[in-house]
Amino acid sequence: MKNISVIGCGTMGNGIAHVFALAGFNVQLIDINEAALQKALQKIASNLDRQVGKQLITEDQKNQAIANITSSTELSKGVSNADLVIEAATENVGIKLQIFKDIDAAAPAHCILSSNTSSISLTKIAAATSRPDKVIGMHFMNPVPVMKLVEVINGYKTSKEVTETIMNLSKTIGKVPTLVNDYPGFVANRILMPMINEAIITLNEGVAGVEEIDTVMKLGMAHPMGPLQLADFIGLDVCLAIMNVLNDGLGNPKYAASPLLINMVTAGDLGVKSGRGFYDYSAGGKDLIVAPNFK
Ligand code: NAD
Repeated sequence: MKNISVIGCGTMGNGIAHVFALAGFNVQLIDINEAALQKALQKIASNLDRQVGKQLITEDQKNQAIANITSSTELSKGVSNADLVIEAATENVGIKLQIFKDIDAAAPAHCILSSNTSSISLTKIAAATSRPDKVIGMHFMNPVPVMKLVEVINGYKTSKEVTETIMNLSKTIGKVPTLVNDYPGFVANRILMPMINEAIITLNEGVAGVEEIDTVMKLGMAHPMGPLQLADFIGLDVCLAIMNVLNDGLGNPKYAASPLLINMVTAGDLGVKSGRGFYDYSAGGKDLIVAPNFK
């Protein structure tokens, strides 16, 4: 396996491209938005610089990684010689099903198709293709260059050979793959997202403020980040999309998204990526500043 195409170059896609390029693979980064591609390439270069600064990699490794990445806005051309496609586009079923139909039509027959989806059924994604045995979940964690876990998700028809290939490949790039089955939210978000949603409900009920909720969970439970800061980091639109998948797929009212989360996403306060969520990132400094709505 040599050629990897990554579709979607947002928060996750640029990190996935970064780790594969650094591990020596040819990476084709694809997005519908040219400006997003340019931003992603800059982000990858600055993250590689940080690794050089920390003496984790050499200047030569950084330059080679950058040289290993090409970018394109044309999906069919971008996957035409791929051995593996990793889709990391917006968490929306309609968008993903269309992308998988398009990749299936354009990628070589041997190519494995994977998705970084946080919660959408891999079996459903696989059913949109003519090769459900070659469709599998590769759920990377944010930020991808730092986090070790890859939650590997077997769809209903994923073949044993494909699972084995993806488990081994994940180890090759220095990650720890963990195999789970295809149920709503898999393991990571089945457990994480209801906790984040409960933190938002707790805030909305006035039990405590943003800083107090995050402090209790950081210092009391030894979490590196409080749940509200983590929600900002993940993206509130992504959190809402995952809660909706859990609610629809498991049919239990305990998974209903907090009305405050729905309001914030509707109003465009999506967390770090929009400049404001539970905290305000507009000053650009390292200090966490509670957003004006929650003061
Ligand atoms: P994002 O909003 O930061 O980026 C999504 C990118 O997809 C954008 O650049 C957009 O232009 C692009 N895109 C949309 N439609 C496209 C199409 N048809 N073809 C090509 N590109 C398209 O999203 P993200 O946070 O990087 O999430 C991407 C995926 O990763 C989602 O499935 C999400 O659930 C999953 N994920 C996210 C996190 C996280 O912490 N944000 C963690 C794990 C997994």
